Amino acid sequence: MTIAGLPAPPPLGRRIWANRTLNLRSIKAIGYDMDYTLVHYRVEPWEQQAYQHLKAKLAEQGLPVEGLEFDPDLVTRGLVVDRELGNLVKANRFGYVVKACHGTVPLPFETLRATYGRLLVDLSDERFSFLNTLFSLSEACLFAQLVDRLDERSSGVPLGYADLHRLVRRGMDEAHLEGALKAIITTDPASYVEPDPETALALLDQLHAGRRLLLITNSDWPYTRTMMAHAFDPFLPQGMHWQDLFEVVLVSARKPDFFLHPMPLFQVVSDDGLLTPCPGGLRRPGVYVGGDAREVQRYLGLAGEEILYVGDHLFTDVHVSKNVMRWRTALVLRELEAELEELERFGPEQTELARLMEEKARLEFELSQLRLAIQRLEQRYGPRVEASLEELRSAFAVQRERLSVLDATVAPLARRAGELANRRWGLLMRAGNDKSMLARQVERYADIYTSRVSNFLFETPFAYLRAPRGSLPHDDTRLVE
Ligand code: IMP
Ligand code: MG
Repeated sequence: MTIAGLPAPPPLGRRIWANRTLNLRSIKAIGYDMDYTLVHYRVEPWEQQAYQHLKAKLAEQGLPVEGLEFDPDLVTRGLVVDRELGNLVKANRFGYVVKACHGTVPLPFETLRATYGRLLVDLSDERFSFLNTLFSLSEACLFAQLVDRLDERSSGVPLGYADLHRLVRRGMDEAHLEGALKAIITTDPASYVEPDPETALALLDQLHAGRRLLLITNSDWPYTRTMMAHAFDPFLPQGMHWQDLFEVVLVSARKPDFFLHPMPLFQVVSDDGLLTPCPGGLRRPGVYVGGDAREVQRYLGLAGEEILYVGDHLFTDVHVSKNVMRWRTALVLRELEAELEELERFGPEQTELARLMEEKARLEFELSQLRLAIQRLEQRYGPRVEASLEELRSAFAVQRERLSVLDATVAPLARRAGELANRRWGLLMRAGNDKSMLARQVERYADIYTSRVSNFLFETPFAYLRAPRGSLPHDDTRLVE
């Protein structure tokens, strides 16, 4: 039966993907991160502002930043900074480096192999720093550009790459924590926030379905209040205010420490942010500063698996909350939306590439068989085939020629496949033919992932989000069909 007005299934880019099956009916409380989760920023202007603030700070410290400009395509989320060598690398799920740039300059294949052939990227090693969120783009871009500058001897700045990274990191921390950058954003939120009117409706659905909603953000109260009002109030029913959506709002939450340690809690008791301590812990709905996940869970009176936390930061929002609290986790990966659209457009070429690769595998198999038959005949051992050495050699030459013709057809297609989404780095979740390190992090720690919060609208608060049957190299479509 079709009922007019009911939504059609969403396009691929708006779907929710499950790594582990999640029944949304068994979720009693949903905690939301704010920045790049409930509130999505226009990446280019926001990161441009952050970049300019960082640049000014580094200029004060004598770093050669003049003339540098933010380039949003230079880096992507999920890359890893190699602090020791001043490189940005893309690793696969095992930690093997598949692409790298020194500063902004791509490493040729031979250099890549010589540098990383025997080295695995291990994120627990201080040497490596993972780009966890879209907030990392401006910082990593400036770092790479400054590596180039330090390499030019004329810069005259005696600084190692790891020291440079420390300065850039510290500068970015300060830029985010001091008021100037945030003041620019809050003065003109419309220029920096990408509106999504459907997010308010998705949260209203959850609220009316009996879910208890929480906001848990590292942003401070004045910033949170302004951004949430801007992003939600125009899209809520008349007379409703964004705060009405949330039972508890926790600002300046200090994630990841929020998930790791007991933290002091204060209640915001007036509009201008007056605080009172809460020595007895979280007792009632309201707006709070600080606090920690254990206290929130105690207040809710729920088990970890009844709480879903939704955020965009791969480490603080999903890795730590999953590892420490065993909350269910959802990762917001906005980039997925454009990537899936691009993949759909590339579909016919991808099918052709897969067909050619099958053909290549078949030719390579035959070529190896011929090579072995020639070897056996020449060395006079093993079973004989019914062909002379000349016949075998000529068949070998023909097949080798076919393979090289095929390779010439495959090469440009494979290159285009590798340049989807970002010419330099390719698709977020892929590293060559394999899964990227980011994909591995996502599958380990995020129960579900999706491009934006409003995608819950299509799934409703009642969906049973099923994980697909995991694929293995020996899976054979002929056997499972
Ligand atoms: P959340 O995503 O809602 O938890 O908020 C993230 C907050 O952390 C925002 O206020 C950001 O400005 C801030 N932030 C993002 N990156 C950094 C950083 O590198 N250092 C310090 N604060 C950051
Ligand atoms: Mg966030």
